[in-house]
Amino acid sequence: MSNIDKIFASVRNEFPALTQKVHGKKLAYLDSAATTLKPQSVIDRITQFYSFETSNVHRGAHYLGDVATQAFESARHKVAEFLGARQTEEIIFVRGTTEGVNLVANSWGGTHLKEGDEILITEMEHHGNIVPWQMVAERIGAKVLAAKILDNGELDLEDFKAKLSKKTKMVAFTACSNVLGTNTDMTLLTKLAHEVGAKVLIDGAQIVSQTKVDVKAIDCDFFVFSAHKLFGPFGQGVVYGKREILDGMSPYQGGGSMIAKVTVEKTTYNDVPFRFEAGTPHVEGAVGLHAAIDFVERIGFENIHSYEMELLKEATAKLQAIPDLRIFGTAPNKGPIISFNLKGAHHSDVGQILDQEGVAVRAGHHCTQPLMARFGIPGTVRASFSVYNNHEDIDALVKAVVKAREMLL
Ligand code: PLP
Repeated sequence: MSNIDKIFASVRNEFPALTQKVHGKKLAYLDSAATTLKPQSVIDRITQFYSFETSNVHRGAHYLGDVATQAFESARHKVAEFLGARQTEEIIFVRGTTEGVNLVANSWGGTHLKEGDEILITEMEHHGNIVPWQMVAERIGAKVLAAKILDNGELDLEDFKAKLSKKTKMVAFTACSNVLGTNTDMTLLTKLAHEVGAKVLIDGAQIVSQTKVDVKAIDCDFFVFSAHKLFGPFGQGVVYGKREILDGMSPYQGGGSMIAKVTVEKTTYNDVPFRFEAGTPHVEGAVGLHAAIDFVERIGFENIHSYEMELLKEATAKLQAIPDLRIFGTAPNKGPIISFNLKGAHHSDVGQILDQEGVAVRAGHHCTQPLMARFGIPGTVRASFSVYNNHEDIDALVKAVVKAREMLL
């Protein structure tokens, strides 16, 4: 066993979900792009919070209120460091990537977009980074354009550049396609967008578990992600926004905590970030996210990247050797995600056979219908890899796909 395999064999032992059998077979969990499994340290931290620290935040005049508030705000500080933000106040807690995009589309877009303005996205966006922009554009009379994707799954940079103009006010793109695995050049796209005076939102849902992100170096205006794709809890997400931009944005939702003063006639609003966090937040979500960041930092992104690339390379080569199998997305710079179809078989049928073999994948359109239309297919089977996967999981996948081919073709 190589050194890196040894490190990750021990990481794998931290995931209780992997000790179970599915349909009598050893579980090969290859659906991390949908959500990652949770390590024991994250589960324990949430249990500890519920057991001994439960209290509401920012309001309790008692010991436990302080403990909970400290845990919550310390999570915000951890996320700020994790993303390389300049200030802790640049971190807003939301429910997930989707709510994060909705917040920016409504709050920033509602104030700054005008009739005739353009929002540039790409053809490989998740619906979570398409629909919120369409909704605000429809309300305001702005227009959503999408930059094209090349046959190998890379962004068509020439088309992206051609679609940028003085009318472009927002460029919103994914750092990594949840279907093709394609990683985009966040720094370059941000620079190009800024050259025409547009603001930039990066959908970081798939990138945060793969690589170290530095929002200062990228210079994006907004960056959003979900904790549940980073070994953390569901219902917890993050919006990073540059302070000077957040300061100029109106609240997205109204209620408790986001106010400075309320009279029946009028309300003045709290400072950033609280202005954007109406109501009781998902406290244990933030606390669990803190533990999840501790977990990835303990392993180290260099190790994570090397290991996941090793798995990706091996799985790609073995799948490619199966006759009638087509992989969608072969960009040179991609994350540990492989989408494929067996020619002549429906993706759902393949997914079901894999499930019976204990191999958990996703089969469908992956909330990317425009991308499916681009490739002229209704869906794909998607296998995605993470820190707890190993070579045995790849072999289980390949064996199950070979079986599916024999049964279906
Ligand atoms: N963007 C990308 C690239 C995703 O993969 C996902 C989830 O699959 C989302 C956005 C939406 O994330 P969430 O459902 O956690 O809000």
